[in-house]
Amino acid sequence: MGAHNAHYETAGTRERRPDHVTIAAKFDRYARFYQRTAKDIVGGAWLWSIRWNYDTDPYRDPLPPILLVFNEIGARSARTQIRNIAALTRHHWEGQPDREGAFHSYRGKIPIVATRLDLLRKHGPHGPVFWRFGRKHREDLWSAVGNPREEATLRQRAQAYRERQAQEKRQQARQAAQREARRPSCTRCGQKLTDDRRRMTETFPEPDHNWRPGVCASCEADVLHQEKEQERVEAEERQRQETEANRPRSLFRRR
Ligand SMILES: [Zn+2]
Repeated sequence: MGAHNAHYETAGTRERRPDHVTIAAKFDRYARFYQRTAKDIVGGAWLWSIRWNYDTDPYRDPLPPILLVFNEIGARSARTQIRNIAALTRHHWEGQPDREGAFHSYRGKIPIVATRLDLLRKHGPHGPVFWRFGRKHREDLWSAVGNPREEATLRQRAQAYRERQAQEKRQQARQAAQREARRPSCTRCGQKLTDDRRRMTETFPEPDHNWRPGVCASCEADVLHQEKEQERVEAEERQRQETEANRPRSLFRRR
C-alpha cells in the first residue's frame, strides 16, 4: 500500500472554483484513467501501475488512493464541500460489505481521502487529519488509505481458524487415545487387535473357512495351521483305522 504514491488534488481556491461538481467530475476522469491499459506492454498492464509504484493485489486491493487537500476556505465550508463531493462520487469509492458485515472490501474502488491544509499544518502529515470517504472519523493517512478493519478481521479470523485447528487436533488426539484404550485384545495372546481385525471381528463375529474372529493375524495363522494339522492327523488316523478294520475281513475272505 503506497500511500505516499497517492495522487494529489488541491481544490477550493479563493474563488471557490472548481466547485464540488467540477471536483466530483474529476473522479470520473480518474476512474477512466484507471481503466486504461498500456497498449505497448504484453498482457496490457494498467497504465497507472507503470507510472506509480503501487503494490496491489488485484483480487483484493482498491485502486490507488486519491488525496484531496482543501486550502484557504473555512472549516465549515470545506466540510460541506467534502460532503457534497463524497455524495457525488459514491459509486467510485463505496465498498462492498463483507458477508459478515465486519468490514468493507474496496476492490476496484478508489479510496478518496480528504484533509485541510490548516489541519495538516497543525498536526503534521502523520497526524489523524485524513477523512476517508465513507468513514466516520479522521485517521492517520496510513489507516485512511488502508483497511484497518479488514486487516483486524482477517487477523482475528486467521487466529480463530488456528485455534479451531488446534482444538480439533487435541480432540482427535483425545479420541485416538480413547479408541486405543478401548481397543480389544487378541483372545489368544493378549496383543491389541489392529483396526482392521477389530472391524472385521465386529462385522463377522462368526468363524469361517479361513477367518477366526477375536484373535490377531499371527494367532489366526497359528490356529488355522494347527487346525489343518489336526485335521490331517485325524484323517490319517481314520485312514489307519479303516485299513485296520478292513484287514481282518480281507484276511477272513481270503480264508
Ligand atoms: Zn494373538
